[in-house]
Amino acid sequence: MHSIAHILVPEQTSVALNDCRLPVPVYAQAPTGTKDDLAIHRLRPHPLLTTLDLDDGEHVVAFVPSLSQVAVLNQAALALIQRLPLAEAAEAAEVYGALVRLVEMGLLVTTDNPALPCPAEPTTLVAWLHLTNACNLRCTYCYIEKNHEAMSLATAYQAIEASIAAARRYGYRELALKYAGGEPLLAFDTLVATHQYAQEQCAAAGLGLAATVLTNGTGLTAPRVARLRELGLDVTVSLDGAATSNDQQRPMCNGTGSTAAIMAGLERARAGGIHPTVALTITSTSLAGVPALVQWLLERDLPFTLSFARDHTCGRSHRDLLADEATLIEGMRTIYATVAANPPSWSLLGALLDRTDLSHAHGQACAAGSHYLVIDHHGRIAACQMAQHMPVADIYHEDPLGAIRHDERLPLGRHVDTKEGCRTCVWRYWCGGGCPLATLRATGRTDIQSPDCNIYKALYPDLLRLEGLRLLHQC
Ligand code: SF4
Ligand code: SF4
Repeated sequence: MHSIAHILVPEQTSVALNDCRLPVPVYAQAPTGTKDDLAIHRLRPHPLLTTLDLDDGEHVVAFVPSLSQVAVLNQAALALIQRLPLAEAAEAAEVYGALVRLVEMGLLVTTDNPALPCPAEPTTLVAWLHLTNACNLRCTYCYIEKNHEAMSLATAYQAIEASIAAARRYGYRELALKYAGGEPLLAFDTLVATHQYAQEQCAAAGLGLAATVLTNGTGLTAPRVARLRELGLDVTVSLDGAATSNDQQRPMCNGTGSTAAIMAGLERARAGGIHPTVALTITSTSLAGVPALVQWLLERDLPFTLSFARDHTCGRSHRDLLADEATLIEGMRTIYATVAANPPSWSLLGALLDRTDLSHAHGQACAAGSHYLVIDHHGRIAACQMAQHMPVADIYHEDPLGAIRHDERLPLGRHVDTKEGCRTCVWRYWCGGGCPLATLRATGRTDIQSPDCNIYKALYPDLLRLEGLRLLHQC
């Protein structure tokens, strides 16, 4: 047994925005305690402190569900926590550094009834720019009706201005842009000009700017990769399996498979100095093929996110694409086993369980309905990219974000504390209550827990243990 308390914590997540991911606050206040709390003789474990064994008692992963940071502790650190409150001043001096760290992470408190901190409000406004309806793929779960309509440059510039005006009106400190479609690389000139304009306008407005291109990756040619890199753009590529399952789920428009072309695009991006995030959508068709793709990505140290397919109302029903609960849980555990065998350099906490993010406390699963403008190629603004057929404003509206927040037809922006079933759930600030649109479509309500709730609850401990093993592997 080590006599020195040893504490490992994940680094800030490096996974880029995907279609629904909530930005990690730029000005994050990750620790939940402060050194001011450090009255050593009154320190004790947080009443909800939980530990999970990692390696037959040598190390545990420790956390306060949805309130603290996640840490790996060795036996000495765990024994220190179990001895609290400390009586001996001399001993307290010896372990002072470890105690400070544990307080800062929110694992120790000075009272039996610590107040539950409400997650901080996001400081980033997210705007989705739907650059084109055109796409060279025909994914089975896609919600876009394909044609060749595209956003004009004048509309794109006005969309940037409207987003910046909304960010200033509501006091956001950063704008996060998602260039999407359709396939946005089919509107490459518009994308480049729009992003240059966004850079100029955000700088003039004193706003931070982050941006990602959501692409199927087939159009990542070497010159485009070089241009995207020059512009400082993140790239998120959709890919659902290593071979057959992705080819079935995401054929090219001529009916042939897309997997080889997407993988070639990813390799060109890497060769050009861009490290794309790969977004995997899990369906009953793709589930069995995911571990092989995950293995391929891990070998290249490419970060990835795992999301469950959503049912939507556009076109034919896609319910047959959604895997049942037990199958999904078992399949996810198989994927996690693949990750455990070759753990990556990046934190898994915000990437491997649908819309949940265990890296920081947040009040909603996504920005929709509160901190999000989805702007289509005509300049119409909706609350979510999957609800573009229900616009509530346009880029000339005086207060489009206010219109979205007050839209009673689609109340997507409910805080998790207001949701039936979620209010008392210990996981709520890591979960946010799930995709509100999926909940609405499954239940007719958004003030209730996610239809994927049982899956999340079953897999939280698996994901926490997996992150703990990854941290141990790194040290
Ligand atoms: S959806 Fe389920 S896991 Fe998530 S906060 Fe609500 S009750 Fe908790
Ligand atoms: S409502 Fe659902 S689909 Fe829309 S952004 Fe949120 S998580 Fe994504």
